[in-house]
Amino acid sequence: MFDYLIVGAGFAGAVMAERLASCAGKKVLIVDKRNHIGGNTFDYYDTAGILVHKYGPHIFHTNSKDVYDYLGKFTEWRPYEHRVLASVDGMLVPIPINLNTLNELYGLHLQASEVEAYLHLQAEEKAIIKTSEDVVLSTVGRDLYQKFFRGYTKKQWDLDPSELDASVTARIPVRFNRDNRYFTDTYQAMPAQGYTKLFEQLLNHPNIKVMTNADYKEIEDSIGYKKMIYTGPVDYYFDYCYGKLPYRSIEFRFTTFDMPVFQQTGTINYPNEHPYTRVTEFKYLSGQVHPKTSVVYEFPQAEGDPYYPVPRPENAELYRKYQLLTRELPDVYFTGRLATYKYYNMDQVVAQSLSLFKKIMAQAEAPVTNAINTIRFPSTNGKG
Ligand code: FAD
Ligand code: UDP
Repeated sequence: MFDYLIVGAGFAGAVMAERLASCAGKKVLIVDKRNHIGGNTFDYYDTAGILVHKYGPHIFHTNSKDVYDYLGKFTEWRPYEHRVLASVDGMLVPIPINLNTLNELYGLHLQASEVEAYLHLQAEEKAIIKTSEDVVLSTVGRDLYQKFFRGYTKKQWDLDPSELDASVTARIPVRFNRDNRYFTDTYQAMPAQGYTKLFEQLLNHPNIKVMTNADYKEIEDSIGYKKMIYTGPVDYYFDYCYGKLPYRSIEFRFTTFDMPVFQQTGTINYPNEHPYTRVTEFKYLSGQVHPKTSVVYEFPQAEGDPYYPVPRPENAELYRKYQLLTRELPDVYFTGRLATYKYYNMDQVVAQSLSLFKKIMAQAEAPVTNAINTIRFPSTNGKG
């Protein structure tokens, strides 16, 4: 008999498994329908021998010391600061938009002290910032919106920015300085041996049994367990009783080139040309030295694995209906990007699971007071 059946071996599930097994002495079965652990962060060596990320580039960054230190027990870190260029008007310019972007794009000679006033002149006034279009128009104005955001967002989500919550494009800040980094978090690093190795360490405990290639619905009746941690899509758990929650998918196309370097930075975004949104060259992320190089092109699509919850009011409304159902199940805990329908980065998912573990422990020890000792939740994307 297992104490916990954990559905999903991504960060949300693996962190729960590790905590429950090593801190609470629980016996855990963690099951994933894929043929590997690691969820969307799974990486592997391709046929050329280059470390690639099967489900698109995953760059770790966080402002949470708790999360960074916790994961640091299972991996060494390799410092890495991601830089992205956007292909706009035949040029490759830095994104997030900053002083360098404006000067390169428009042939200006602005100083840092002049950027705010310059952008203020371009910006459109908005009484209320509700949509992803509002966010961008009200900070950088229409020309930059059209050059950097409109086409990319349409490709990525198959929605106009005016149809998406403000939170989506608000992930990308505007900077008045020359900081070309994609993120500004305190901790920016990659697991030195890759994510899969990190997960092998996380799950390396005698109380944890791992089962892959199995949908939990096919095995849950045949194994004994007391409680469940569920990290798959929340609508699937409830057999889509209120209808399907929209998740955006992506087709990842990998190519290996017989040259040591393919492009001039880790990722190049293509807001306006091509059906793909961005191209990422993995050796920048891993630091691997190899005579060849592998890249991934991201083609967003409607069908396929559920990668992105789609942040817009009607979807939040539908999710709330499912969330009410989750509250009727005291022995099933929902955590992670798919189970709580939140556009979370890895560090936020790790924090969410660490928090849930503390909540479960607090409930077990003090069911009456219901004291919850949460860890500080990383709330920003760190690109600001
Ligand atoms: P997942 O990793 O999706 O794990 C859920 C697991 O549950 C999956 O392995 C799935 O197979 C399994 N599962 C689902 N249903 C069942 C079932 N019925 N039975 C058994 N198993 C099931 N975050 C960052 O911080 N930095 C980045 O650079 C970054 N880049 C990203 C790029 C892309 C293209 C995508 C899609 C996401 C990116 N993220 C990034 C976000 C990151 O992937 C997530 O925050 C994180 O992986 C979520 O972990 P999770 O455990 O909640 O979900
Ligand atoms: N975005 C954009 N142009 C860009 C980069 C991002 O319009 O060059 C918008 C787009 O809507 C995207 C969102 O900002 O989905 C968030 O971008 P991020 O790079 O954080 O996306 P992720 O890495 O999560 O796919």
